[in-house]
Amino acid sequence: MIIEPPPSPPPIPSLPPDPMTRKRRYVTWLSLSLMSFMALMVVIVYEARWVYPEIQAYFSQTGNLTGQQLATRSRGYLQLAQQHLLSEQPFEDEQRQAVRLNLDIAYGLIDVEVYRQKYSCTQASLQTLNLLAERLKEYAVTPFDAAAELLGPIDCLTSIEMNQLDLRGMAINEFSESTRRHNQVLTYSSMVIFALGLLFWGMHERQLRRTERATEQTMVWMQQAMRDPLTGIGNRSALHQDVAAKEGASLALILVDIDFFKQYNDSLGHPEGDQLLRRLASLLKHVLGEGAKLYRLGGDEFAAVLPCDDDALLVDYCDQLTSALEQADFKHPSHPDNERVTLSIGGVRFIAGETTFPSAYEAADKALYQVKSAGRDDWHISEAA
Ligand code: GH3
Ligand code: MG
Repeated sequence: MIIEPPPSPPPIPSLPPDPMTRKRRYVTWLSLSLMSFMALMVVIVYEARWVYPEIQAYFSQTGNLTGQQLATRSRGYLQLAQQHLLSEQPFEDEQRQAVRLNLDIAYGLIDVEVYRQKYSCTQASLQTLNLLAERLKEYAVTPFDAAAELLGPIDCLTSIEMNQLDLRGMAINEFSESTRRHNQVLTYSSMVIFALGLLFWGMHERQLRRTERATEQTMVWMQQAMRDPLTGIGNRSALHQDVAAKEGASLALILVDIDFFKQYNDSLGHPEGDQLLRRLASLLKHVLGEGAKLYRLGGDEFAAVLPCDDDALLVDYCDQLTSALEQADFKHPSHPDNERVTLSIGGVRFIAGETTFPSAYEAADKALYQVKSAGRDDWHISEAA
């Protein structure tokens, strides 16, 4: 029979890579960041949309525009009065009345405390208009002179108009500037939030990868803790765990111990002893097949667990093991009774869960002990308790 080379350790299972999960996570984070960025942009646009017209309306209703409109209207009445004064028609009472009416209206329009304080020419213009109205009443001034005297107040009103317009322009500019600054702050804030989101996402991803690596490493260590490093098959802990996982199954437990292994080591050396252990693991695997799980319990003792619902089958496995070893003919120079390696085998059939594992193990060990005490190189089967 050809004995296969010692089994190479089985690959260590690691966490299955899940590219979809990782991709989905990337997409989620990216969409969240983009959504927060978009939300901020919407706020900016929305704000600019309602703030600007409202402030504009505010300015158009107040001081600057009102002052400018009053001055424009007042100037209009004064210019109307000038037209009457300089008309080619004879300057009759009717004309005089019209001029005085226009002067009165113009006077009323610019007689506002706030403008009197703000523009020094207002006071003087009001006095001029007052005086002119009196003189017109008393016929103490010619129409031409009266028209010329109106130039001063008209000039004053024009300067008020211009100044009020300038003020209004400045106010609007100031508002536009503050809106621009406001937008800038919002834009930079959005960019900072976006950058922070990306940073947080990166940190989160890094942490996840670290956790994944740690979990994989833990899995590797767990697998290594369950394996015999010399032969690559399971160890005693793995045997306990595997049997516990097969509750209800009808199983066979076969214990195998090399006869006079100490002498083998003594005569051929420990490296050769190690090699024999590996060869024996291969032989067990070869004879018992893929359905069997193999374990090295320590020293030169091996165990095999395999599905078995018939005692005849267990007998068959034991026979096969004995004859396979005979065929393999591993030389044992210091064997007291033989020239080749022999085995002592103890077996038991049990239903996992119904019979506890310690009882099953005890029964198999008892069978093995019986073989040892009866002279070795044989197998024996016990009844499960
Ligand atoms: P018995 O027939 O009664 O089983 O006799 P034995 O000499 O095989 O006795 P036992 O099973 O108690 O001896 C186990 C020997 O296995 C003792 C030790 O030198 C050897 N041994 C234990 N672990 C290893 C190992 O990893 N490699 C090698 N080469 N030998 C080992
Ligand atoms: Mg032994």
